[in-house]
Amino acid sequence: MDPITHAISGIALARALPGHLLPRSQVILLVGLTMLPDADYILTFISDTTYLQYHRGITHSILMLPLWTWLIYALISKTRSAIPAWLIAAAIVLHIGLDLITSFGTMILAPFSDWRATLDLVFIIDPLFTACLLIPLLLAFIWKRHARKLAIVSFVSMCAYLGLTLMMHHAAMQLARNDQPSALEYHALPMPFSPFRWQLIASYSEYYSQTAVDFLPDFPGNTLFFPDSFVHQFSGNVQPLTRLAWRQFPAMRAQTDIRKLPGTAFYSWFARFPVLLEHRSELWIFGDLRFGAGSNPDSPFRLEINEGKQPRAWLIWHGNQRSELR
Ligand SMILES: [Zn+2]
Repeated sequence: MDPITHAISGIALARALPGHLLPRSQVILLVGLTMLPDADYILTFISDTTYLQYHRGITHSILMLPLWTWLIYALISKTRSAIPAWLIAAAIVLHIGLDLITSFGTMILAPFSDWRATLDLVFIIDPLFTACLLIPLLLAFIWKRHARKLAIVSFVSMCAYLGLTLMMHHAAMQLARNDQPSALEYHALPMPFSPFRWQLIASYSEYYSQTAVDFLPDFPGNTLFFPDSFVHQFSGNVQPLTRLAWRQFPAMRAQTDIRKLPGTAFYSWFARFPVLLEHRSELWIFGDLRFGAGSNPDSPFRLEINEGKQPRAWLIWHGNQRSELR
């Protein structure tokens, strides 16, 4: 989830607490705590790929939560902005929860496992989701006496939005099962702009079948705030429910020739649905269906391998930004 939404969730948490309103210094501390797990951004000073490998790792781990809570409590307990330990833990849990509902993956069992949990309910940046939290807080500027009630409304509307996306996720999974009855696994991933847009993925041993559907095409969602070209770039092959066409992509795991090449071990772990996009002479390009590979030619997080005499591999972040993988 984006840092702005994390910060807004911290304000809502501070305002929703029973009793007197928290003093400003404690509100600021709470907002800081709801953003703190993303302090793993400092790993970019080692390298971009180190960051990618450990982002949403130990700072987002449920197993490490008692240690972080104790450390922060020990640091702040004698200051003016001290807050109870349970509130420190609640702020961090709120952050982990908001990350879990996205499709990126969160290593909640780090450092003992690099398994990345995901609930696939909300796209990583979703202004409609953020608005559910924000609008009641803004209304509290008008109805100051109801500030606490409105903060609770923030969380209630956030949960209602999650209820809607949970229903849509279920409908998307059902659609995938009906359309691809012989697949081994099914996934439904939220897409940008609308909670009714979903990418469907059916997994087979050698390939993935993929399509994208809009359950409510007349609902513009937040497309109104972006230029058409931008919306089109991220809308991929979104189709109406009545004319659903599936596309097949060779799975990376089926490309036995590349197993010893650099970058493949990392990419097999990092990408959730790694597919072969291009192979000509010594060049291999892979993408991740999670990030729009196959629909968006400039999809982020592609893997490019050049098998020359000395094979080299690059992770293409976006556009021309790339890091070599060893
Ligand atoms: Zn995070």
